[in-house]
Amino acid sequence: MNYSGIKYTDMINGEGIRVSIFVSGCSHYCKDCFNSDTWDPNFGLPFTEEVENEILAYFTKYNASIKGLSLLGGDPTYIHNIKPLVSFLNKFKAAFPMKDIWIWSGFTWEAIIQDSTLLSLVEMCDILVDGKFRIEEKDLNLKWRGSKNQRVIDIKKSLELKETIKYIE
Ligand code: SF4
Repeated sequence: MNYSGIKYTDMINGEGIRVSIFVSGCSHYCKDCFNSDTWDPNFGLPFTEEVENEILAYFTKYNASIKGLSLLGGDPTYIHNIKPLVSFLNKFKAAFPMKDIWIWSGFTWEAIIQDSTLLSLVEMCDILVDGKFRIEEKDLNLKWRGSKNQRVIDIKKSLELKETIKYIE
């Protein structure tokens, strides 16, 4: 898996101060995507064990001030990103069980829960921003997403109650 960047003090992508990883690879090809360079899974740099350790070291150093981790792209749920991210999240969650994890996906929640591969990654996270960016439904006032069709979903509650529970409207 490649990544296009890591933002170590991100206050835009999720709640609180976060570390955001922007991975490469996306199969959704949304019209007017803000980040089309990252559609190519070879864009950016390899997400090596060294990079993983840098992120973990940052969380250790700034543990008190960082609320959690955000996974964006590209698409973290792009087929070739799932295994490496599951592997990284296993390490991350073992080291920092109290930190929350937000994930953005071009797939809808309904598609994710029907696909065990997608779910294997998404169920490790707390909040999902789902669905493709639709230029026709673009709204600059929305929090954490670009178009009205996208939802901010509480993953744990949705799985527990077997219905789609939004984190915010
Ligand atoms: S899912 Fe995201 S990265 Fe992929 S094409 Fe749509 S807006 Fe762009």
